[in-house]
Amino acid sequence: MTEKVRCLIIGSGPAGYTAAIYASRANLSPVLYEGMQPGGQLTTTNDVENFPGYPAGITGPELMEDLKKQAVRFGADIRFGMATATDLSASPFKVTIDGEKIIETDTLIISTGATAKYLGLADETKYAGSGVSACATCDGFFYRKRKVAVVGGGDTACEEATYLAGLADKVFLIVRKPFLRASKIMQERVLSNPKIEVLFEHETLGLTGDKVVQGANLVKRKGQADESQVQIEIDGFFLAIGHKPNSDIFKPWIETDEVGYIKTIPGTPRTNVPGVFASGDVADPHYRQAITAAGSGCQAAIEAERYLTEKGI
Ligand code: NDP
Repeated sequence: MTEKVRCLIIGSGPAGYTAAIYASRANLSPVLYEGMQPGGQLTTTNDVENFPGYPAGITGPELMEDLKKQAVRFGADIRFGMATATDLSASPFKVTIDGEKIIETDTLIISTGATAKYLGLADETKYAGSGVSACATCDGFFYRKRKVAVVGGGDTACEEATYLAGLADKVFLIVRKPFLRASKIMQERVLSNPKIEVLFEHETLGLTGDKVVQGANLVKRKGQADESQVQIEIDGFFLAIGHKPNSDIFKPWIETDEVGYIKTIPGTPRTNVPGVFASGDVADPHYRQAITAAGSGCQAAIEAERYLTEKGI
């Protein structure tokens, strides 16, 4: 089953939906596949306070629903489905959806975002869904009046720890360095919260518990003369150590950096393949914000329109 379109957008975060708004207003009749997590990472965020235009803040799911409605209003064809393979060797590009349907497209906008990283401990798999989570807003509710740990020292970790402190009795923040990497305002929220205990220079060795997480084994100041083992009692273990860009299916054709972020021509969303553009977190190791993702989605749609005009397609 093959279908031909002028503009295919993969991904439904701020970048994908913004590309869909601009591409539909430019009469490109875009088709957008939402992927595994419709709405993207922001659907797992609670309050978004820094997206311009919402002085009182807005929840992540509401913001994404608004962006989707705006794209639909101008005629974007938004579909449920996952891109599983690509052939970008020649135009029109071929993208396989859900392993069966093939879409041929003159332009492709990759907005597949990034996915939460795990430490790589066997116990993360063992206790998946039984105390291990990478999304506090999704699963925090289960830990009301209990004890949890969050791993990481960036903005995500601080945000998740602060959110969980509103539900749980106690939150350990496990930070491998002697300082937090998060922005000052986030650090202050964490350090002034009496329910949060920051464990600097601690790393996780494993989790304990009969069927569900009941504790964690940590090492303090690993490799130093005063290295010591620390046990904490917890019911939930939340990862907040960053993300991996979702670029694997494009790698045979599209250049990425060593982490997997798609390389674009500086200041543009153009990839090394003319007609293929990348926007949002999949191509952004630096800013990774909803507003920068939306901005780059806009740029990608404008580039797609110009490419089609130049080619006379
Ligand atoms: P970051 O990459 O900024 O931080 C990751 C954190 O996890 C670091 O403290 C890092 O430690 C730690 N870490 C990484 N790997 C391991 C490991 N194997 N073991 C232990 N710790 C580990 O990711 P974030 O997701 O926090 O943030 C990504 C971007 O999104 C940032 O630009 C951030 O500012 C932004 N953001 C903004 C928000 C907002 O403004 N509301 C909210 C959330 C994110 P180390 O420091 O030692 O490398």
